Amino acid sequence: MNITPLGCSGGLAKSAETTAFLVDDFLLLDGGTGAATLSKSELDRVEYLLLTHAHLDHVAGIALLIASFDEGRAAPLKIVAPKVVLDTLKTHLFNWQVWPDFSQIPSADAPFIEYLEIEGCLEFAGLKVEAIPLTHTVPSFAYRIESDLSSICFCGDTGPTHELWQLLNSKPVDHLFIELSYSDAEQALASVSGHHTVSSLVADLSELQQSCAVHLMHLKPGQEDEIKRELEQKRAELAHSTSFCEVGQVIKI
Ligand SMILES: [Zn+2]
Ligand SMILES: [Zn+2]
Repeated sequence: MNITPLGCSGGLAKSAETTAFLVDDFLLLDGGTGAATLSKSELDRVEYLLLTHAHLDHVAGIALLIASFDEGRAAPLKIVAPKVVLDTLKTHLFNWQVWPDFSQIPSADAPFIEYLEIEGCLEFAGLKVEAIPLTHTVPSFAYRIESDLSSICFCGDTGPTHELWQLLNSKPVDHLFIELSYSDAEQALASVSGHHTVSSLVADLSELQQSCAVHLMHLKPGQEDEIKRELEQKRAELAHSTSFCEVGQVIKI
C-alpha cells in the first residue's frame, strides 16, 4: 500500500492544500483541495472516496472535481461514509442549490457518484474497513483499514477521544494518521472547534498501548513552526515515533 498525501493542511493558504490522501491509485481518504492536484487521468482511476466527515475542507476538492467527470470514467465514484455523513452531503452540498446532485447526473442509471454506507465494518476493494466515532463539532470518524499485509488508521478531525484508543488497543495498527491542528496557545480555539493541540494529543497518545508510526497532519496554516517546536519539547513524554505528513512524500506501508 502506497499512501500519498495530496493535501495535509488544516486550512487553505499558499502552498497549503487541505486533507486528501491517495492510497495506491484507486482510493482517496478525504477529498479536500489537495485532491485537485490529481491529473484528469489519475482522477479517472479513483474508484472510492472514504470520507471522514462532511466539513468543507475535507470535501471541497472532490466536489469541484466531480463536475469535471466525463465518459473517461469506467464507473461512478463511490463515496463511502456512515449514513450521518452521507446525509449531510445529500442535504447540504449535493442538493441542486449549493451544487448539483451528481448521483442523478448524467442520469440516475449511470451517475457520476454513488453512496456506499458503512456502519461498523465494510469490505471493499480487498480492504476491511472499520469506522470509529471521534470527537468533533460534527460526526467525524476514524477508519481502521486492514489489507492482507498491514493495517492503518486514518482519523478525521478530532479533539480528545477515548473510543479510538480502546479499539486500537484491541487490534493491530501499523500506522496512525491523526490531526494536530493547533499549538497550545490556541487551546480555547481548539476546544470550541473540536481539534487537538500539542498537549491534548500527547496526552491522548499516552492511551495508545501498542507501538505504531504516528503521522501528524491538519496543522493550521501559520501554526506549523510553533506546533513543531512544542512537540519537540514534549518528545520525552511521547512513547511513539511521530512525523509530519508532507505533500510529495510517499508512505510505503
Ligand atoms: Zn478539517
Ligand atoms: Zn472538521
